[in-house]
Amino acid sequence: MLQKLFKLLAFYFFLCMLCLLVFLYSKNGSLQISEPPDDEQKKEQYFDKVAENFWRTEAPGVRLGSTAAEVLQPCPETTPDLVGPLHVEFETNRTLDWVREQVGSVLQLGGRYKPPDCVSKQKVAIIIPFRYRDEHLNHWLYYLHPILMRQQVDYSIYVINQYGHGVFNKAKLMNAGYAEALKEYDYDCFVFSDVDMVPLDDRNLYRCFDSPRHLAVGVDKFNFTLPYKNIFGGVIALSKEQFLKINGFSNTYWGWGGEDDDISNRVRIRIKSISRPDSLIGRYKMIHHDRDLHNDVNPHNPYKLHETIKTFKRDGLNSLNYTVKDIKRDKLFTFISVDVHVPSGLNLK
Ligand code: UDP
Ligand code: MN
Repeated sequence: MLQKLFKLLAFYFFLCMLCLLVFLYSKNGSLQISEPPDDEQKKEQYFDKVAENFWRTEAPGVRLGSTAAEVLQPCPETTPDLVGPLHVEFETNRTLDWVREQVGSVLQLGGRYKPPDCVSKQKVAIIIPFRYRDEHLNHWLYYLHPILMRQQVDYSIYVINQYGHGVFNKAKLMNAGYAEALKEYDYDCFVFSDVDMVPLDDRNLYRCFDSPRHLAVGVDKFNFTLPYKNIFGGVIALSKEQFLKINGFSNTYWGWGGEDDDISNRVRIRIKSISRPDSLIGRYKMIHHDRDLHNDVNPHNPYKLHETIKTFKRDGLNSLNYTVKDIKRDKLFTFISVDVHVPSGLNLK
């Protein structure tokens, strides 16, 4: 009888050992039994580590292998690295390779950045309407990446290129950029910036505010003053909620002019107020250029502005159609080529 009991106990002991082995295998993928070091102090650290690893469970928001002190805190209200007024010049020839070397090292593919030591309150997509402006883009990337990093923005850069050589439609590209960005990440703020606009003060924050934000308050070409009160172009920022509320941009402004006044109307109709930085902080330098090919002034556009109030509910994000032709990820930006379906009868030089 006693012998039977002893055999049973031995069998149980064997089973337990087997279970322990299976457990260790499943935890580490392989069973590694390393020898503890000889040195006494190292031996102590070794066993501390073993014990710590054995009992550790991961809390949400804590990186594997991090201690409680490494849990990321929200980024501060006023970012500590800002320097204020900036020297900006466009005489230097800046190639894309050179800009990549200068500012690319801390970026993730697609022109993506997250502050490493805090959690930003907003996730910001920066949308740039684009065609034939490679040189301008190089300057823009060279200046803006470091500014956005100092502002501790969680951001990506989307360059939305109009595919083909048809009449340009900047506002439709903006809408397409908004839609494409949202397919990738849960952005809550959208900054729409011309490719030739570089801020002259890094305290001009690329993020969203309670009201839609007009960032380009004083541009050098207008002697750093607002040319008219309701101007809402160059660089603007709208939260996802604000952008949805106005149904985005109109899709029907072909050629140069009007689309920025149309979105200004939409904001006035649906949201009432806009916000701006003060006139010193809101200064910009614009890269000088001639009018682009296939983007002549469209004389019909100003007349459309009287119609915004009647048309905005059905012309915008909810009527947007386009075809993505190509997506390329550079270190400095995501480049999306979009066919905006230029109407065949459109007759602009
Ligand atoms: N744009 C572009 N290629 C063009 C036309 C316009 O990339 O052929 C984009 C670019 O981002 C530019 C913005 O649309 O900054 C506004 O156009 P433009 O610079 O002609 O406007 P303006 O200088 O009169 O404000
Ligand atoms: Mn311009």
